Amino acid sequence: MAKHKKYIFVTGGVLSSIGKGIAAASIGMLLEQRGIKVTMVKMDPYLNVDPGTMSPFQHGEVFVLDDGTETDLDLGHYQRFVQNATFTRKNSFTAGRVYEAVIKRERAGGYLGKTVQVIPHVTDQIKTNIKAAVEDADIAIIEVGGTVGDIEGLPFLEAIRQIKHEEGAENVLFAHLTLVPYISTAGELKTKPTQHSVKELREIGIQPDILICRTDRPLDKEIKSKIGLFCNVAGDCVFSAQDAASIYDVPLLFAEEGLDDKVTEKLGIWAGRPDLSKWKAMVEVIHKPKHEVKIGIVGKYTDWRDTYKSISESLVHGGVANHSSVIPVYIDSEEIEKGNLKILQEVHGILVPGGFGERGIEGKIKAIEYARSEAIPFFGICLGMQLAVIEFARHVCGLEHANSAEFKPENSQNVIDLMEMQKGVTELGGTMRLGAYLCQIVTKHAGKSTHAYQAYGKDKVSERHRHRYEVSNEFRARLEENGLVVCGQHIDKKNGIQLVEMIELSNHPWFLGCQFHPELQSRPLDPHPLFVQFIKASLSSAKGMQTAMKGIK
Ligand code: GLN
Repeated sequence: MAKHKKYIFVTGGVLSSIGKGIAAASIGMLLEQRGIKVTMVKMDPYLNVDPGTMSPFQHGEVFVLDDGTETDLDLGHYQRFVQNATFTRKNSFTAGRVYEAVIKRERAGGYLGKTVQVIPHVTDQIKTNIKAAVEDADIAIIEVGGTVGDIEGLPFLEAIRQIKHEEGAENVLFAHLTLVPYISTAGELKTKPTQHSVKELREIGIQPDILICRTDRPLDKEIKSKIGLFCNVAGDCVFSAQDAASIYDVPLLFAEEGLDDKVTEKLGIWAGRPDLSKWKAMVEVIHKPKHEVKIGIVGKYTDWRDTYKSISESLVHGGVANHSSVIPVYIDSEEIEKGNLKILQEVHGILVPGGFGERGIEGKIKAIEYARSEAIPFFGICLGMQLAVIEFARHVCGLEHANSAEFKPENSQNVIDLMEMQKGVTELGGTMRLGAYLCQIVTKHAGKSTHAYQAYGKDKVSERHRHRYEVSNEFRARLEENGLVVCGQHIDKKNGIQLVEMIELSNHPWFLGCQFHPELQSRPLDPHPLFVQFIKASLSSAKGMQTAMKGIK
């Protein structure tokens, strides 16, 4: 491998949401499969210091890393496509964090009386952050958030321009993703938006080396040379990113067009051909599944699917492991709250994901009651587990006012509560349990393997968290006496307490809740075991339902 670090910067033009994250992740995957040590970085030009405080309505899910960093969902894509990189706080930063560092340094007198300016001080800080992220890798793929032309993106573009100047053209590659729309009334693909977007980049001194054109149909040679000519890029450096049935097709389509060959050629990297056999086998199952299963996701932000991005991807992964496609059915918990339970009868498994705030929780509790009493496979994640505990306390343990301190702070039956050490801490962010924690799995209950142990096959796992409330240890004995199985716990040595991490029911086909977020660690080639088992149980329930239907006929 080359001695010099290599950088690939991925910018986007014309529109947002054309798949820059997936394109960057696909390039990362193809290079990693050639045996190159890859890392990925996301730079976001907005001023929030991190996305932790941003509404999932606006911004999609918050993706949490092992070290507790709250990042945006692109880090999720990177992690699903790139197998061996470990992502930390260094791999994602915003303009807010850059400015925070610059201002702190200014306050501490670190600029020795100079006027602190966007160029060079902010741009230097951006370069420092990029270089820190690349330390342990041979090559870094760095995605610049936003669209070329955004005012707040300018310091980032200036910083990457300087990096090419300093590191040398042979070590830095600019890949620009644009949109080439097909206008049906004209019967033509239009290249003008791409020309404008590249023009804008060139005005600030960035000449893209490679263009990746998002289209709904293949680009022929002629149109590629036309785009190349107007954008000052060789025709064989113009690639198409055609709409794909699955995001996991994208790296294979790139490889077919020779995108990774061109990248390695331009950066002078000598590496073998990528080994795509496992990836191809996985994609084959996605396209030709043997089975099909419907999973109801009972949530609050049902019309904004990016909120549950990692969950829906983990369901796909769990499906692949079972040779099944998974049809997600997004169910608005407020509909269930109104008593409309019919939709639940059409799904083979019910998943209640994480969330914050009181809206819709009674509907989720109703859905959980339905899953528990009708023996439908149930998977509760974070808030979903907390609500399963509340449902069990209310309807099985006779604690009719059972609730969470998040919704009813003044209530004597809060089975979900703040821990003693958190009480009195007023700053909201300060009390979150964030990042990786160890969970001890209970292997057996009443002489039988627990569902948790059946899934993991080991008794100690590390899982990522993002929550404030916990199952209250005051009520734990009562819950367990009534049949709730605590099948995973975290031993908090510092505070001398045990925290409930997982619960299940032994008299149910598959009913499991976890306080952590397993969806943050699932990969298509390494699906999360809890999702694999949940889909497996849901497939059995689907078969059971079909047999029952035949019986009725
Ligand atoms: N709102 C709950 C808590 O803070 C659950 C959080 C979540 O589901 N991520 O504990």
